[in-house]
Amino acid sequence: MVLVRLLVLSLFHMSLGGSQPTQSSQQASSPPHPAGQQSPLGTSNLSFPWSRLRLPRYIIPLHYHLLLHPNLTTLSFTGSVQIQIDVQNNTNWVVLHSKGLQISKAAIVDQNFAHLSDQVLPVLHNPSHEQIGIFSPRVLSSGQKYFLYLEFGAELSEGFYGFYKSTYRTSTGETRTLASTHFEPTSARMAFPCFDEPSFKANFSIRIRRSPEYISLSNMPVVETFEVNAGVLEDQFDASVKMSTYLVAFVICDFKYVTATTSSGVQVSIYASPEKWPQTHYALEVAVKMLDFYEEYFNIHYPLPKQGTLCLVFLLLLCQIPLFPPFTFSPLTCVFPLSDLIAIPDFESGAMENWGLTTYRETSLLFDPLTSSISDKLWVTMVIGHELAHQWFGNLVTMEWWNDIWLNEGFARYMEYISVEATYPDLKVEEYLLQTCFSAVGHDSLNSSRPISSPAENPTQIKQMFDTVSYDKGACVLHMLRHFLTDDVFQRGIVRYLRKYSYRNAHNQDLWDSLANTCSEEDFMSGKHCYSSSQASKNAVSKHINIHSRTSLHRCPLIHFTQCKQLFSGLVTCCGCMYCLPQYLFAGEHMDLTAMMNTWILQKGIPLVTVTRKGPHLLLRQDRFLRTVLPSDRLWSTLQQGFLWHIPLTYKTDASSTIHRHLMTTPTDSIHIGEEVSWVKVNTDMTGYYVVHYEDGGWDEMTKLLRENHTALSYKDRTHLIHNAFQLVTAGHLSLDKGLDLIGYLQLETHTVPLLEGIGYLETFYRMTEKRNEFDVISNLGMYILRFFRAVIDRQTWSDRGSVSERRLRSEVLSLACHLKDPPCLERARESFKDWLQSNGTLNLPTDVAVTVFSVGAQDDHGWVSLLHTYNMSLSEAQKSKILFALTCSRDTNKLHRLLELGLEGKVIRSQDLSSVILMVARNPRGYRLAWNFVKKNWDTLVQKFQLGSFCIRNILIGTTGQFSSPEELTEVQHFFESIKEQASQLRAAQVALDNVQKNVRWFQRNLETLRNWLNKQLQ
Ligand SMILES: [Zn+2]
Repeated sequence: MVLVRLLVLSLFHMSLGGSQPTQSSQQASSPPHPAGQQSPLGTSNLSFPWSRLRLPRYIIPLHYHLLLHPNLTTLSFTGSVQIQIDVQNNTNWVVLHSKGLQISKAAIVDQNFAHLSDQVLPVLHNPSHEQIGIFSPRVLSSGQKYFLYLEFGAELSEGFYGFYKSTYRTSTGETRTLASTHFEPTSARMAFPCFDEPSFKANFSIRIRRSPEYISLSNMPVVETFEVNAGVLEDQFDASVKMSTYLVAFVICDFKYVTATTSSGVQVSIYASPEKWPQTHYALEVAVKMLDFYEEYFNIHYPLPKQGTLCLVFLLLLCQIPLFPPFTFSPLTCVFPLSDLIAIPDFESGAMENWGLTTYRETSLLFDPLTSSISDKLWVTMVIGHELAHQWFGNLVTMEWWNDIWLNEGFARYMEYISVEATYPDLKVEEYLLQTCFSAVGHDSLNSSRPISSPAENPTQIKQMFDTVSYDKGACVLHMLRHFLTDDVFQRGIVRYLRKYSYRNAHNQDLWDSLANTCSEEDFMSGKHCYSSSQASKNAVSKHINIHSRTSLHRCPLIHFTQCKQLFSGLVTCCGCMYCLPQYLFAGEHMDLTAMMNTWILQKGIPLVTVTRKGPHLLLRQDRFLRTVLPSDRLWSTLQQGFLWHIPLTYKTDASSTIHRHLMTTPTDSIHIGEEVSWVKVNTDMTGYYVVHYEDGGWDEMTKLLRENHTALSYKDRTHLIHNAFQLVTAGHLSLDKGLDLIGYLQLETHTVPLLEGIGYLETFYRMTEKRNEFDVISNLGMYILRFFRAVIDRQTWSDRGSVSERRLRSEVLSLACHLKDPPCLERARESFKDWLQSNGTLNLPTDVAVTVFSVGAQDDHGWVSLLHTYNMSLSEAQKSKILFALTCSRDTNKLHRLLELGLEGKVIRSQDLSSVILMVARNPRGYRLAWNFVKKNWDTLVQKFQLGSFCIRNILIGTTGQFSSPEELTEVQHFFESIKEQASQLRAAQVALDNVQKNVRWFQRNLETLRNWLNKQLQ
């Protein structure tokens, strides 16, 4: 251990013997009581004072002074933390989080730096709650502030959480080490003792010691670097703004960076390992554009440090000269707002929004012009858009607790679409939004789904909140809300929300109030731009009258007429004052936004709206949409009970180009549409989160419309129809041949999105049937797809030319054609692969078809081995991911097995990619049994590597079992979950996996014969 010279050491002159971590399984159920002055300091008669998972609320951390000294040779670290705490109840105990840390010293001093004890303070541990309790013999008094001081140490973590080790290899074969952090949701406690809950926001002053060959990065800019002793430098970072512990970050590495400045003066830098530095330029361009966009959209400056006026003068002067971080402007401490983005070689998730230091998987940040495809480019752009949106949504305003993580993640996911559409319109990001909503529907139509806002207490439950419900459903519900409120009202509402709750925490209700522009009576009377109503808006004006009648203070709110006209339907006058009247596009009276949104946020599932034409009326009925339970099942009606949504319904007819709107708040309803209308398409462009079923020949009408005049509907409407039809097939509302007939128009389709939606279903049926030895169906379906889409396949070029949509279509269509063994496709791919091999891998294949070429090349021994060699040597993660996919397409089970083993070993194939390898092998008809057996055999190792509740474990479970579709396989999966009962009972994914297999089993039972007959008819 290195002797640590601490600035705070002068406060702590006592000589403390090492107090060994003690463990206590005893827990008390009542809050700690202050004890007398003479309490003994031994731990023998002390029991852990706190029994709950969440920390007591009466000790508030205010400011952390954190010092860390990682040793990248011994792979360990030591540190100390001084936390200023505000005590709000008399107590003898400070309880906070710590996991896997050796606490070697604990002390508490008061505001005057007087010690509360001259003895060692006992530290009790409760490992099952990841908490420690520090006992003070003298009572900590309510209303007083103290400093808690702790020294600690640990090994750098082996996994992907806490303060962990990562390595990379140079082109000369040298392995280099770095140390990085990932804290969300509950792993800050693995790096330093802390109050590790999102609502305990505090300031952080961080210092990091390092060898001169490394640099250190953290949330804030370095203000000073000095030599501690020979060969050890200390970087002192500026004090942070108030933030949650999960957003703290630090990295010690030898990376290089590129840097640029946004128009408002934020210094943006992209860091990567030295040889990957040339791949950082695209990310730099994106990050600068994104920050500029968000500052304008949110109308709030990038919320990191603000300079004083003196500093601003320096800033202006310094703008003229190139700058190289870390900035050191001693004695005048002058810092720039920084936004660092860094690619970490070992990274479990895609990226993390740590304030001012966002961390990324290499494939999420690096763009290599030679090997990155158009999809890679879009991915990088969207991920950066997501993480930078979090700097406001999540970092500036944080959800109160993890049950509402959707307030962070749903927003960030949705902002990806808003920001990329605005900054990179050519990428056509809006074409992907439907897919995001479709994946939400897929999950939400299983009985095992959950409400967006769901209870989550322990770390395993909290980790599971990071799922498609929080992200994708969250984004789709926001999309619906934005269309309901209009873009302008939505944007102004979220700006209001961000301003009001800056550096604080928020609940769902705070968001609804901000969006509905409601406010407190106090706000109202002081002239804020809002209307006052506890019921949101129903009777804004009458409420105003009530306020006026109750108060003698008759002061009119200040209404800006132009703003009122822009945003609201107009002005109303009441009691001599003018008020803005909120404007909604939906007919009827003003909405109760909270009541409406509660049906989407607090209730699980998705509604199915069944529409029937009756004379001039459209009859509507809403049910809960379930894909695992058929309407004929007895369980169906039970599962419907109590479900009701407030659905902002939209529809279009052939009678006009108008989008009609209707808020449906009852189980059944009807709308007058007139006699002359020949078709009605409900849920225009899928701006609403609900599935639509057209009863009584309604689907035949849609099929006819698509065949005769498909462009009468937008591409989104066409895609939405295809999606809904096949969802209804699975749910037992529509027969499969009706769905297949609906996509019979696709030969006329020229838009990528509906084409891929239709082809996607056929491919899914093909891939599922491939794993069932239904040889006639496999062969006929393959033949049908190739014949039906012949013109589309032949249209594709083997190049990177064309628009983003064209390039995306080419990637997908050629990949499928070669998988279906289309002779011209195979021939062309083999030729390209031969050229690539002959060039020794130096030839640059067109990036959008490289996966297809590699996958065909991987089918023989020589090709497979050459690809694995290139995989091992490549410095481009974009290329490596394409090769890895191709390697998993081999039909040789020995090779597939080797890939799984390499992933488990974590050297050639990094552990971060193991879950992807398992999923890709499971997709292969020769590999799906292999992958499942691998998961069962290595279950404990997988859980240890990725942690129970992580999305890796979830993906592995759902991805491998999702390939099954027979009753025997369902039983096998049930048996496995029985064998890991204790873990499975904690995992939502186990129930999702079972629901999914059950759904597949039913699909084949109901539809296989229909598919067989339909194909026979088509191929006659
Ligand atoms: Zn996020």
